[in-house]
Amino acid sequence: MPDESESPGDLRTPIVAVLGHVDHGKTSLLDEIRGSAVIDGEAGAITQHIGATAVPLDVVSEVAGSLVDPTEFDLPGLLFIDTPGHHSFSTLRSRGGALADIAVLVVDVNDGFQPQTEEAIRILKDTGTPFVVAANKVDTIPGWNPTENAPIKQTYEAQTDRVRSQLDEKLYELIGELSGAGFSSDLYWRVQDFQANIGVIPVSAMTGEGVPDLLTVLMGLAQRYMKSEMEVNIDGPGAGTVLEVKDEQGFGKTLDVILYDGTVRKGDTIVVGAKNQPIVTEVRALLKPRELAEIRTEKRFEDVPEMQAAAGLKIAAPDLDDAMAGAPVRVVGDRDVATVVEEVEAELAEVAVETAEEGVVVKADTLGSLEALANAMQEAEIPVMSAEVGDIAPRDVAMATTADDDKHRTILGFNVDVLADAERKADEENVRLFDSDVIYQLVEDYETFVEEREREQQQAIFENIVRPARFRILKDHVFRQNDPAVVGVEVVSGTLKRNTPVGLVEGNDLDRVGVVKGIQDQGEDVDEARAGNRVSVSIDGPTVGRDIEEGDELWVDLPEKHAKVLEQELSDEIPADEREALKAYLEIMRKRDPFWGK
Ligand code: GDP
Repeated sequence: MPDESESPGDLRTPIVAVLGHVDHGKTSLLDEIRGSAVIDGEAGAITQHIGATAVPLDVVSEVAGSLVDPTEFDLPGLLFIDTPGHHSFSTLRSRGGALADIAVLVVDVNDGFQPQTEEAIRILKDTGTPFVVAANKVDTIPGWNPTENAPIKQTYEAQTDRVRSQLDEKLYELIGELSGAGFSSDLYWRVQDFQANIGVIPVSAMTGEGVPDLLTVLMGLAQRYMKSEMEVNIDGPGAGTVLEVKDEQGFGKTLDVILYDGTVRKGDTIVVGAKNQPIVTEVRALLKPRELAEIRTEKRFEDVPEMQAAAGLKIAAPDLDDAMAGAPVRVVGDRDVATVVEEVEAELAEVAVETAEEGVVVKADTLGSLEALANAMQEAEIPVMSAEVGDIAPRDVAMATTADDDKHRTILGFNVDVLADAERKADEENVRLFDSDVIYQLVEDYETFVEEREREQQQAIFENIVRPARFRILKDHVFRQNDPAVVGVEVVSGTLKRNTPVGLVEGNDLDRVGVVKGIQDQGEDVDEARAGNRVSVSIDGPTVGRDIEEGDELWVDLPEKHAKVLEQELSDEIPADEREALKAYLEIMRKRDPFWGK
């Protein structure tokens, strides 16, 4: 039983975020929660905030019916963040952690874990956020017989054995995948300790089945395990996180904020995290969406004198141009402005990304996502030269051109736009742009690019390098004495190419005799001849009988630098016979100079 003497204002509403892979039903589930609450309860019981929807306890208990005994609860309800996805989730940080108190991980029962599911799990794990799994789209099981908005056990038991066993199979697969990700889980009605086990709730965002269970479990989790965190000084100075910085007609730049602590009032001095130093400004207006009934009026927003946590609201104030999504907002109250500025700075420093002298440029739309991206880059050991919140602008391209290493002349953008000028400039400056709204994809794309580039570079080196080979002039195969000499040869080892200088080994040195101009194999011009091939070659320079003889062995005249690259970098890439030719050649040269080609 709630303590009657306790002021209900001292317990704030837990904040709930919805995460999951694209198309698994996050938006539909949120819509269903909003919709069912409006239909079942009196309209207005549910309140629309900026960026969030509040579902009060009485609506939860009405939707949940017999699943909930409202006397067990004293938390005011649940505040759902309207923008689903791990992107907004990581944006929404509060002091040192995730802003959301609980998360719902939506997984399509047919699809199971997908890349964004795994990314969401990683973020939940990193932030230590408790979560439940909504195993969505149970209505798609062939033969499913829906009972709209029913608790899941009731509707589950009303299915045929065949349907039930199909669903069971999918649910067990999901439980297996969760276990693979390091989480022990079970169907929620079997979970005793929600701190040790993740509850899996079969739902349908389409039919509303299981939604009562989902609300009940969320409410129960919050009540049971988070009550102490929900105890805030609701009349104290407000603290929140910027969800978005938006231009609003008649107000200029405004902040969409999720307030998670205290109260904010019109006229309050606030400190807002920004690109350079924190902004100190005064609240001109506090805005919330108008109630449905009034929506026909011109004005979309209602100006209110104050708002209490937890809530989503729009703050209009001067000088907000440099404010950043994901940054903290604090009401100064009766504290020192400088102290609050320091507090905000300290919080921003927490997410400051370590940068190196040399590396890539990264951009993200919010502080939280920048931090998540930076962490992923660090894990992948990709150095970052600059990391900022904002769209990809020409300035970023200029920054990327300062990278020494070609593979760092890149910009990785997470959830940002590429400004047209920036795209053009990047083209001109040969800077590569990558953008994605999945972090791991971004990292993977970049890694693939680096691998390809390294391969290309190696290929380019390979193509321009003189390759070792030796060949013997065959007896009775002199077709022309000179200008050029044309002789039949057999390649002993390596690959003989056109336009290669060749020579004879004299003592410990190679005496250049001329250049192989052309190679013919059975009368056809060819570019190269491999070990074992018998071909005729034309050699510019020597005269047969004077400079070269039948039976002579000629070597490709390998420049020292090329020999070095071949031995040190490419020796695994070249065929064995070529390696043999290289080795023999190096032996000859190193008799004279032991450091030749080193
Ligand atoms: P999000 O990308 O995760 O927000 O996914 P959406 O909510 O946009 O849903 C993706 C698609 O799946 C839409 O076509 C929805 O109508 C459909 N969908 C979502 N939930 C359900 C469900 O429970 N049952 C069925 N049959 N379809 C669903």
